[in-house]
Amino acid sequence: MTQQFFYDVDADGVATITWNQPETSLNVMTQQGFEQLDGFVDDALADEAVKGVIITSAKKDFAGGMDLNVLAKMREDAGDDPAKGIFDGVMAIHQILRKIERAGMEPKTNKGGKPVAWASPGTSAGIGTEIALSCHRRFVADNPKAKIGLPEILVGIFPGSGGTTRMVRMVGPMMAAPSLLEGKMMPPAKAKSAGMIDEVVPADELLARAKDWVLNASHDDIIKPWDKKGYKMPGGAPYHPAGYMTFVGAVAMVHGKTQGVYPAAKAMLSAIYEGALVDFDTAIRIEARWFTSIMLNPSSAAMIRSIFVNKQALEKGAVRPKNVPDQRVKKVGILGAGMMGAGIAYVSAMAGIQVVLIDQTHEAVTKGKAHVTDILAGGVKRKKTTPEKAEEIAARVLATTDYEALQGCDLVVEAVFEDAGVKAEVTRKAESQLAEGAVFATNTSTLPITELAKASVRPDDFIGIHFFSPVHKMLLVEIIKGAKTGNRAVAKALDFVRQIRKTPIVVNDARFFYANRCIIPYINEGLRMVREGVEPALIENAAKQLGFPLGPLQLNDETSIDLGVKIAKATKLAMGETYDDSADEVLFKLFSEGRLGRKSNAGFYDYDEKGKRQLLWKGLAENWPVAKEQPDFMEVKHRLAMVQTLEAVRAFEQGVLEDIREGDVGAILGWGFMPWSGGPFSWLDILGADQAVAICDQLTEAYGERFSAPDMLRNMADKGESFYGNAAEKAA
Ligand code: NAD
Repeated sequence: MTQQFFYDVDADGVATITWNQPETSLNVMTQQGFEQLDGFVDDALADEAVKGVIITSAKKDFAGGMDLNVLAKMREDAGDDPAKGIFDGVMAIHQILRKIERAGMEPKTNKGGKPVAWASPGTSAGIGTEIALSCHRRFVADNPKAKIGLPEILVGIFPGSGGTTRMVRMVGPMMAAPSLLEGKMMPPAKAKSAGMIDEVVPADELLARAKDWVLNASHDDIIKPWDKKGYKMPGGAPYHPAGYMTFVGAVAMVHGKTQGVYPAAKAMLSAIYEGALVDFDTAIRIEARWFTSIMLNPSSAAMIRSIFVNKQALEKGAVRPKNVPDQRVKKVGILGAGMMGAGIAYVSAMAGIQVVLIDQTHEAVTKGKAHVTDILAGGVKRKKTTPEKAEEIAARVLATTDYEALQGCDLVVEAVFEDAGVKAEVTRKAESQLAEGAVFATNTSTLPITELAKASVRPDDFIGIHFFSPVHKMLLVEIIKGAKTGNRAVAKALDFVRQIRKTPIVVNDARFFYANRCIIPYINEGLRMVREGVEPALIENAAKQLGFPLGPLQLNDETSIDLGVKIAKATKLAMGETYDDSADEVLFKLFSEGRLGRKSNAGFYDYDEKGKRQLLWKGLAENWPVAKEQPDFMEVKHRLAMVQTLEAVRAFEQGVLEDIREGDVGAILGWGFMPWSGGPFSWLDILGADQAVAICDQLTEAYGERFSAPDMLRNMADKGESFYGNAAEKAA
């Protein structure tokens, strides 16, 4: 058994339990870790010489959370009764934390306990913070990098080791809401004002301050309010008039934010509400029951898999070609200082990379550089960075019109106009300045990489690196291999994406690659429905209630109608007879009216003079009268979700996508595909292939061939298979 916790008692009788997991930079709770912590807590409580305890970490942070294998193992070990396995396992964790909290006190008199302080040198998330909440006083070093919080909700679960129940009982449901429902990781000072911790202290005094508190704590200091007689929940429990208001508001707010599709938020609210009506020990049993139900919910399992496990795996290089040495970028050239180029310059400079930003004119590069400094100034204003740091980052960006400045760049990313001729010209100009081995990347959103690579003298070092807008906010980067792209270029692109801390997916070259291939049909389906006379608000709400951040009409306003027209024309030209033009009427009409979307302050929506979105444009109903009989709401949802999901399946079937994990993670990060589902492939697995095929058959009959189930899906339905089931089998 590897030792993860360490125990020491000093001459003053203060026991220190130090977490220091070997061979990792961050402590992550494992089953063994729990056992060792439990054992040392027992030792400290049993030893009469020990006056009090400090729980701390020898690393720069306290903990990153729980190893998900702990929960998986509880489930596996329980065989055909996984609910019992998880519930019993979680109750065992509760017992350890409750032991820390009660610290040997007499149940009736609350006498005889030992003070336990928590002292964190830095960040603490998940179970780390839940351990903290069970202690009697919480100290955090004033480390500028430290973040404290309970982020479980962000991956589809909720704090289930007492974090939910304790936070609510400490500060009341109202004040606990942002910590629990938004899963915010907070700097120490904020965590203190949120009531999560007690003291922020100078880093070099952390243990001394904790020790001082332990040695001076009074009997009363260590009894939790809910273990005292007459405890009242701050802000009022559900049947208190004030508490009643909070709960009514919270339920509405959570439903408004989640559209009811995230089971974890609902389960957490239930745990809070029901827990508030009973004593603490019953409340944590209730929390454990709701937690168990969430762990067994297919949506939560899919969210954890995509948003946590697979996202991390991709970031760590799961699809990076093996045996290619480190390709980290030192100096990047960026061609085109427009919206995308300037954004790419910003994220590169932030990552410490030297940047040469090139455009045609002095005005254009100056504007591009100003975009970089504007984003940095915003960061200074929001206290994300200091003025000195911002200056240092901006100084890494050399803005110039001179291609010779590209000498020494080991990567060039081209983001000039979306025109094959212009791109070919800049490719040649740039390559003439580059040394052997430098990689040339294009940020094109629509042009085939293999075609663009023809302008290159080294097509094996030519690749697509497709960013999403706005670059500094969007997490996904799509890497596209042309027919001749070599492994080193793929590794280079992946290492670059890792440097700039984004999540990569690697796909093969085909029309619209992966993300746009799925997004465009989603928008088009919305346009078709408008033409059919479906109430536009119904379309938008169906999308929202599926969990999409933007309905298809709003999304079209954001991406702009003229871009849609451009893409439609180019696609028609490329596809000829097979092109389906049923969405074009609506798109072209808005274009001809000059309603180009948000940028022209008019599109599917109206906008006020400040650019704030108002209601849907009334002209929609005048041009395409709303039909008397409206379709079934579920059918509208199925159309919107299925039309893009089927594109994802086709992309996989055709080998554009090589890995369903990339398809799922890419969809959630790239365009906000129903995160609760875990992505398109996870959604199909939740539905079951046979049910998915039945939906496709019904939609095909009503709306046409674009809904016909791909062979791959039909075969799965016949054989009773699933995407992830097959992937696991293949991996085994
Ligand atoms: P943009 O019009 O804002 O910027 C293009 C810039 O390229 C302009 O500043 C222009 O002066 C410059 N340029 C044109 N010809 C040049 C040349 N010969 N040498 C140097 N600079 C030249 O466009 P954008 O939105 O930043 O898009 C750039 C590329 O990124 C396009 O290929 C586009 O398809 C792609 N892209 C755009 C988005 C998006 O949402 N806007 C998303 C992903 C990819």
